[in-house]
Amino acid sequence: MTTSHESIHSIDPSTLTPAMRQYQQYKQQYPDAVLFFRMGDFYECFYEDARTVARVLGVALTARSKGENPVPMAGVPYHALDTYLHRMIAAGFKVAICEQMENPKDAKGLIKREVTRLVTPGTLTEEAMLDGREENFIAAMIVSGAGEADAEAAIAWCELSTGKFQTFRGVFAQCADELARIRPRELLFAEASDHRPPEWATHLQVMLSLTLTPRPAWQLDAHHTSQTLKKHYGVTTFAGFGYDDDHDAALRVAGALVAYLVDTQRGSIEHLRPPQIFERQRFLVIDPTSIRSLEVLRTMRSNVVEGSLVGAMDRTLTPMGSRLLRNWLCYPLRDVGLIRLRQDAIEQLMSAEHALAQVRQSLGDCSDIERITARICVRRASPRDLVALARSLDTLLSAAKLLAALDAQSTHWHNLLTLVPSAQQICARIRAAVMDEPASHLRDGGVIRDGFHADLDRLRGLSRDSRTFLAEYQSKLVRESGIPSLKVGYNKVFGFYIEVTNVHAEKIPADFIRKQTVKNAERYITPELKQYESDILTAQERGLALEQDIFEQLRLELAGHVDDLQQLATAGATLDVYCGLAHLARQRRYCRPEITTEKEMLIIDGRHPVVEQSLGEKYVPNDTSFGIAPEIVQPTPDAGPLAASCSATLHMITGPNMAGKSTYIRQVALLTLMAQAGSFIPAKSARLGLVDRIFTRVGASDDLAGGQSTFMVEMTETANILHHATEQSLVILDEIGRGTSTLDGLALAWAIAEYLAGTTKARTLFATHYHELTELAETSPSVTNYNVLVREWEDQIIFMHRIAPGCADKSYGVHVARLAGIPRSVVMRARQLMAQLVVHVAKTGSAKARAAATAVAPQISMFDTTDQQALSQLRALDMNRMSPMQAWEALKGLQGMLGEKK
Ligand code: ADP
Repeated sequence: MTTSHESIHSIDPSTLTPAMRQYQQYKQQYPDAVLFFRMGDFYECFYEDARTVARVLGVALTARSKGENPVPMAGVPYHALDTYLHRMIAAGFKVAICEQMENPKDAKGLIKREVTRLVTPGTLTEEAMLDGREENFIAAMIVSGAGEADAEAAIAWCELSTGKFQTFRGVFAQCADELARIRPRELLFAEASDHRPPEWATHLQVMLSLTLTPRPAWQLDAHHTSQTLKKHYGVTTFAGFGYDDDHDAALRVAGALVAYLVDTQRGSIEHLRPPQIFERQRFLVIDPTSIRSLEVLRTMRSNVVEGSLVGAMDRTLTPMGSRLLRNWLCYPLRDVGLIRLRQDAIEQLMSAEHALAQVRQSLGDCSDIERITARICVRRASPRDLVALARSLDTLLSAAKLLAALDAQSTHWHNLLTLVPSAQQICARIRAAVMDEPASHLRDGGVIRDGFHADLDRLRGLSRDSRTFLAEYQSKLVRESGIPSLKVGYNKVFGFYIEVTNVHAEKIPADFIRKQTVKNAERYITPELKQYESDILTAQERGLALEQDIFEQLRLELAGHVDDLQQLATAGATLDVYCGLAHLARQRRYCRPEITTEKEMLIIDGRHPVVEQSLGEKYVPNDTSFGIAPEIVQPTPDAGPLAASCSATLHMITGPNMAGKSTYIRQVALLTLMAQAGSFIPAKSARLGLVDRIFTRVGASDDLAGGQSTFMVEMTETANILHHATEQSLVILDEIGRGTSTLDGLALAWAIAEYLAGTTKARTLFATHYHELTELAETSPSVTNYNVLVREWEDQIIFMHRIAPGCADKSYGVHVARLAGIPRSVVMRARQLMAQLVVHVAKTGSAKARAAATAVAPQISMFDTTDQQALSQLRALDMNRMSPMQAWEALKGLQGMLGEKK
C-alpha cells in the first residue's frame, strides 16, 4: 500500500476526520505504546501502529478512507483482545487501550473515548498472560555515576499481580546482581536530556532481556516521588516503613514506580504493599551466573524448567506455591533459626503421612489466591475468579482443620489458623452472591445468585415469567374488585390493559384509568400495571446493569479485605511449599541436614537432586567433608573422602572427562543451596555450616550478548570470585583455564587454586583435567586431592562415579573418544600421536613451562613429574598395534624425555 503519511504525528490535525483527530491526540499522549482504538466490535490501529500490529499479529493490513490518502489500518476483534495483547506484550511492546466510554447509540456526535489502561510487560495481571509459576516484576533503578561497579545505586521492584513491593540501596554491582535474581520484565529509569538510555541501562537490557521504560527525570526527583508515595499510602513520613530519611534513594525509585503504576493502571492499586527494604545480608548471595550455571530455575542448554533444580523439586500444587518455592531457592537463608523452623514444619508434615496426603488433596483444588486478589483490586476480577477464590478459601479451611488436629500448639500453622474466621466470612459472602457456575464475562449476565438481591430477582422474574405475573395480577384484581370477568391483556399499540365488560361498569375501582373503549367493554390501566409494563420492557437490560452493579459492589467489598486475602495467599503458598518439600523428601528419601554456623561440611552419600532422578538406582552417591574432625565422622568400610585430611579447604578433583567431576561439584553446591532454603536434601545424612555466598564457574557459559570470548567470560567470572569470595563462601570451579592454550590455562588454574586455598580460604571444589595441579597438595596443607575412580577392563574404561582421596593417574581422553564412537582408525592414530606428543612437549615445552611455573609459584616446578609421565606413556604404548618403526620412534622419544631430565 502506498500512503503519503508514514506517521500520525506528522499530520496536520485539521486535515483529519474527527475520529482520527481523537486517535492522534491519544497517540501523542502515549508515543511509545501501540494504541488499540476501540471502534465498534474492533480495536483498530492506524498508520505505523497498523503496520506493527499486522507484522506482529499477522492480521490483515487494510485501509480506512480509501481516497487519495488511504490510512493504513489493522484491527483485532474486541472479544479476542486478551490473546492479541498477550502476543504484543510477548513481543516486547506496550499497548494503550482506548475504550469507547459511551454507548454509540447514545452518543451525540463523536463517541467519547478514553485510554483506560496501558498494558506493559511489567504490569500484567491477567492469568492468561502470565505464567502462574513465575513472578512478573517491574523494576526502577537510579545510579549516581555512569554505572561503575561501585557507583551508588538504588532499585525498587514490584509484582503488580501480587502486590509484592521491595527496595534495595547499594552499589551498582550489587543492584545489578539483584536485578538478575529478580529478572524484571521492564525497567524504569530517568531519561537524560539527549533521550538516549544510559549505557548501564542498555547493558542490563541486553543481559536480562527486559523492556526499558524511560521516565521524565523530574518524575524521579525526591520531592515528586515522596509526594506520590505519601499520597498513595496516606502517610506523612516513611519512618514507619523502616526508612529513616524521607529522601532515601530507595524511596525515590519506589515513588517513581508507584507513579508509573498509577499511570498505567488507571484503576486502583490498593493491593500494592508498602515498599519493604530488602535486607541482602539475610540471604545467601548467588550471583546471576551461578543461578544460571547451577540450573536452578531453567536448564542452560534449552532454557526449560524440566531438568532444572526447581523442575526436580517442585511438588507444589498451586501456582502461588510454585512461585514461592522459586523464591526460596533464589533467596536461601543465612539464619540457622529460620532454616530450622522450615525444617521443623517439613518434618512434622513428613511424619504425618495421612494428613499430608489429605492436605495435598485439598490444595489440589486451590487456585492462585494471590493473583485473584490483585485482580480484585485492579477491578479486573471476573465472576469465575470470585468463585475460584471461594473454592480456594474452602480448600485452605479444610487444610487448616487437618493442621489444627496435627499440631495442637499450631506452631507452624499459626498464621493460617488465625485467618480462618476471615476466610470463612469472605467465602460465605461470595457464595451468597455469586452463582456456582457463573458466566465467564460479566457483560453476559448470569452471575449473581437468585435470592441475593430483591430488585434483581424482580427484574429477572419479570422477563422470565411475565405470564405468571399477569395471571396472578388478574386474579388479584378479580378478588379485590369483585368483577369475575375482569381480564388482563396485551396489545401492541396500547401495551398492557385491564378489560372490564360494561355490565360491571359501576364496580370499577377508583385507581383504574380509562384508556380505550371496545365493543361492550372498557379498557383500563393502573399505575401498577404501567410500571410493570415499563419494567418488563427494560427488565433484561436493567437486570444486566444491576447485576454488574452488584458485582462491582462485591468486588469493592472484597478489595476491602485485601490484607487478609494477601495473608491467606501467603499462608496457602507457604503450606503448599512445605507440603511439596515434605512429599518430595518422603518420595526420594531425603534427609534433614543439620545446619551449623561452623565452617564445615559433611555430606554422607550425597546425590545430585536432578541427575539422580533421571538415573535412579544407577546413581552413585558420594561423600563430602570439609573441616569436620575425624572422630565425628563415622568410619565406613569404603570411607571415601572422609578418610582424607579434614583441614583442607580446597578439594582438587581430577579424573578423566565423563567421570562425573562436574556432577559431583554441582551436587555439593545444590545441596548447600537446598539446605539453606530450608529443604531436606538427597543424602543419607549431612551437617552443613552456613555459607554466605555460592560462587560457581562451571561449564561453558557463552556471553554471546556481551560479545565476549569464552575465555574472557571465564576470567571475568573468576575475577569476580577472587574479589568477593570470603572464608564463609562455597566456591565451585570446573575446568578453569580450558578456554586458552594448555600452558596459559594450567598456569592460571594453578595460581587461582593457590589464591583460593591460601588467601581466600573458602570451601572450594576445584575440578580439573590438569593432572599437574595435584602437586599443589604437596606444598599447601589447605589442598587435598580427590579423584573420580575409573577402572580399566579389557582395554575399556569403566567410570565408577565414585570420589576417592588421591589423584587420578592417567588421561583417558582417547578412551572416551572411542566410547563416543570416534572411528577405530582415528583412535589408534591418536594413541600413537599421544606418545609422540608427550615426548615433544617434554622436550620443547619444559623450559617455558618451568619459566611460567616459576612466575606463578616459585617454590614449585610444574613438570618435575616428567619421569612419571614418561613411565605412564611407556605403559600406555600398545605394542600390538605399532609398527617396529613406530615403536622405535616412541622409545627414542621417551628416552629423550628422561635424558633431558637427568
Ligand atoms: P566430567 O565433569 O568428569 O566430565 P560429568 O560430571 O559431566 O563428568 O559426568 C558425566 C556423566 O556421568 C553424566 O552425564 C552422568 O550421567 C554420569 N554421572 C556423573 N556422576 C554420576 C554418579 N555419581 N552416578 C552415576 N552416574 C554419574
